[in-house]
Amino acid sequence: MKTITIRRPDDWHLHLRDGAVMEGVIGDTSRHFARAIIMPNLVPPVVTTADAQAYRQRIMEVLPEGHRFQPLMTLYLTEHTQADDVEEGKRSGLITAVKLYPAGATTNSHGGVRDLDKVMPVLERMAAIGLPLCVHGEVTTPEVDIFDREAVFIETVLDPLRRRLPELKVTMEHVTTKEGIDYIKSAPANLAGSITTHHLIINRNAILVGGIRPHYYCLPVAKREHHRLALRAAATSGDPRFFLGTDSAPHVDPSKECGCGCAGIYTSPNTMSCLAHVFEQENALDRLEAFVSLNGPAWYGLAPNEETMTLVKHDEQAHFPAKRETGAGDITIFDPMFPLHWAVAD
Ligand SMILES: [Zn+2]
Repeated sequence: MKTITIRRPDDWHLHLRDGAVMEGVIGDTSRHFARAIIMPNLVPPVVTTADAQAYRQRIMEVLPEGHRFQPLMTLYLTEHTQADDVEEGKRSGLITAVKLYPAGATTNSHGGVRDLDKVMPVLERMAAIGLPLCVHGEVTTPEVDIFDREAVFIETVLDPLRRRLPELKVTMEHVTTKEGIDYIKSAPANLAGSITTHHLIINRNAILVGGIRPHYYCLPVAKREHHRLALRAAATSGDPRFFLGTDSAPHVDPSKECGCGCAGIYTSPNTMSCLAHVFEQENALDRLEAFVSLNGPAWYGLAPNEETMTLVKHDEQAHFPAKRETGAGDITIFDPMFPLHWAVAD
């Protein structure tokens, strides 16, 4: 029996939703993760510090008894966001980052930013007070192929923004391409990237070969195999600029299994088992802790967790339910398409 003990991990990109879905899924994160950056794309989105305060309250109310979990709140950047409100949120300790969604990029992003010029005063204030910007790095112009949207975003939006405001700390979230990895590695400072569990495991074939498989559809969409290999190399390298952000994104099954299914993969329940598998395959189990527990807090200026987590590799398969039942309906749990033998010890 093989075991590994690491500091308790954090998730630097998480969707908890709200209401009955949140109540059904939160335990899957708080069981394993000490902290998570909570995405603000609710309906309506979490735009002001007061919205974030109220959302945090709702999260804490449904946290399962005995779980120790700290939600790290974010604000949804709009063209009407007030720099003073953002600064107030950071000073009060409530706000960890501000999230940029290009309008129309993913679930509930229609209120996102169309014209970066309009948000420059907020970004300048964030740079001045050291508050990171988390970006969904895809352009949404219809002429750009969906598989190229991240690379084009880097070239036409992110790089010009970083030249204009080099003091701004930017987290490129859920990097899915070799171009994204290379861009982060080439940056002199103030740029890091989160990588999801599922993008280390699937390429675009998972979505399309043998029939359309909506539970492997997410945004940014999974890319070609050579991109997946670049992500795996970066995640398992120990490079402090890369850390886990699961982007675990629950949608109830009817909203994925339909004529126009939602984007999002629900990975919270088995993420740690999947990651131990991936890191062992890459001969990098000794670097798992850096990816899930050390690099993220260092980037966000927080201390790593003092508590530990032990993962055990069993001879028999570790079993996870196929679906998480919630008061709003069932949510399919990510199937990595290989047997999992690593499990978090109780
Ligand atoms: Zn997301």
